[in-house]
Amino acid sequence: MLIRLTYLSRATRDMSLQDIQDILTVARDNNQSIDICGMLCYDQRYFLQTLEGEREEVNELFLDIADDPRHDDVVIVSYEYIEATTFGAWDMGFAPASDEFYALLSEVGQNTFDPREFSPEQAVSFLSKLSKQ
Ligand code: FAD
Repeated sequence: MLIRLTYLSRATRDMSLQDIQDILTVARDNNQSIDICGMLCYDQRYFLQTLEGEREEVNELFLDIADDPRHDDVVIVSYEYIEATTFGAWDMGFAPASDEFYALLSEVGQNTFDPREFSPEQAVSFLSKLSKQ
C-alpha cells in the first residue's frame, strides 16, 4: 500500500546550504534504496517535507527522521493512501527559497514561509508545484 506522509518541523539551529546538502546526500542514497520519493523545502527555520512510498518503509523512515536532533516540533500535516506517487522524479527533491518559491507562497496568501498556516491540501500542492520548477 502506497502512502504520502507530509510533515513540518522547526530546525534546531539555522541551516546552511552545506547542512541541507548533508541531509540530501544521505536522504537520496537511502530513499533510492527503499523506493521512497518526495520533496523537502526549507526557509525561516521551517522544514516541510513529503515522503511517498510503501507504508511500512515510509512509517519507519519518518520515525527516524522525527528523531533527528537537527529539528524538533515535528507535526504530521497529512497521511494519505495514494494510488500512485506524484514525486517519482525525486528520491528527495529540494527547493530553496527563490523568486518562484515566494511567488507560490503569495498564491496562498503568505509573504513569509510559515507552513503551520497551510491546510494539508495547500502543503502538498505547494511541494508538488515546487517539485515541477
Ligand atoms: P546516522 O547517520 O548514523 O545517524 C545516527 C543519528 O545521528 C540519527 O539520529 C541521525 O538523525 C543523527 N545525525 C546524523 N547526522 C547528523 C548531523 N549532521 N547532526 C546531528 N545529528 C545527526 N534521511 C533519509 O534517509 N531520507 C530522508 O528523506 C530524510 N529527510 C530528512 C529531513 C530532515 C528535515 C532531516 C533533519 C533529516 C532527514 N534525513 C533523511 C536524515 C535522517 O534523519 C537520518 O539522519 C538518516 O536517515 C541517517 O540516519 P541513520 O540512523 O541511518 O545514520
